[in-house]
This record gives sequence, C-alpha cells and structure tokens, in this order.
Amino acid sequence: MPAYAIDLAPVVGIPVADSDSVFPVRRVYCIGRNYAAHAVEMGHDPDREPPFFFQKNPNNLDPSGTFPYPPNSSDVHHETEMLVALKSGGTNIPQDQALDHVFGYGLSLDMTRRDLQGAQKKMGRPWEIGKAFERSGPCGPLHPVSSVGHPDQGRVELKVNGEVRQEGDLNQMIWKVPEMISYLSEYFELAAGDVIMSGTPAGVAAVERGDVMVMSIEGLGGMEVKVV
Ligand code: MN
Repeated sequence: MPAYAIDLAPVVGIPVADSDSVFPVRRVYCIGRNYAAHAVEMGHDPDREPPFFFQKNPNNLDPSGTFPYPPNSSDVHHETEMLVALKSGGTNIPQDQALDHVFGYGLSLDMTRRDLQGAQKKMGRPWEIGKAFERSGPCGPLHPVSSVGHPDQGRVELKVNGEVRQEGDLNQMIWKVPEMISYLSEYFELAAGDVIMSGTPAGVAAVERGDVMVMSIEGLGGMEVKVV
C-alpha cells in the first residue's frame, strides 16, 4: 500500500461507558422533525410524512463537555437527541433485523446555527452551514446494548443553568429506531461506526457563552456541556 501523502486525520472516538475503549465514528446521520411537538414549534405539520435526514461530519462530534460558541451566528440552538451507534450495517435492512446492528446508545446535542439554517431553508439550499460546523455535536458516553438494552421510552430532558428547557419522552419519536435504520439503509450503505442522531423534543432555544447545558435521558444518564 502506498504511503499517505499527508498525516492521516485522527479518527473520532466516543468513549464507551465503564470501559477503556472508544467507539470509532464513520458517518453521522441526523433525522429532522422526529418529535411532533418540535415539528410544530418549527412551523411544520406534525403528520407522519416520510422522514428526512442530513449529516454532520464525524469530526464534528465532541465528547469533551465544552461547546465553543461558533462564529457567524447570533442564534445558536441546543437540540437534545439520543444517539444510536451501529456495530454493523448493510443495505435494505428489514425493520425486524435493524436492532441487531446497534452497538449502543448515548446522549448528544445537535447544536444548530438557527439563523444560518433558516436563511438556507428559505433559499432551498443545503443545511451544512447551520448544522455541520466545528464541535457542533457534543456527545456523552455510549452505553452498550448489553447493559441498557434498546431504550424506546423514558424521559428526555435538557436544562440550561438549572432551568428545564427541553422535555419529552423517547416514546414520542415519530420514526422509531428500527424504522430509521431500515429507511436509511435503503438509501445508503450503513456500516460499523455509523451513528444516528434521532431527533429532538420540543423546547429548542438559544444559548449564550457561559451557559451550562445538562442533558439527560432516562436509562442513559446525563452529561454537562459548557458553552465557552
Ligand atoms: Mn436535530
């Protein structure tokens, strides 16, 4: 094999709870409007329409517990989401086999430059500038299926400076985890290392430098992320 012409970029790893190992990330898929109450707050019809996905870059994920306020925005929103990590993949995965591909679950934030995203939406342009920026995916430790099973209900919460901003329940997801995996696999070849951010409940709002976000999902613990 030829030598790399430049140094290989580091692989992003999400720490695995109660372990010395990290989960190496290959791709990041994010679903839009997967909780009806959030779809409504964003001005959309909550009826079940086909799901849609966008992507962040693997190296946008960041387990450090700090979120640097990004440039070129004055309206940066938190979106608390359960992260689904795959240990295997494929194409055209049936729903009843989808969960066999899951390594584990964790906490994540789909941080969003809402002003930039809104401007792109209006022009019918892609969302990357609003979604896929540096360190836009703070994420917590992954809990393997062997220890937490497949959570499909439980409180989802985000507090900012001690005040509840987002709350919902995993059972409010419009598209459930097996449906998301199956649907994505019809359009992409899923593989080990892929992660899915599964959508956010209502209550998205702006953060400021100095804010402390604490997210928690019942059964998956909590994580603190400081805006710096
Ligand atoms: Mn989101």
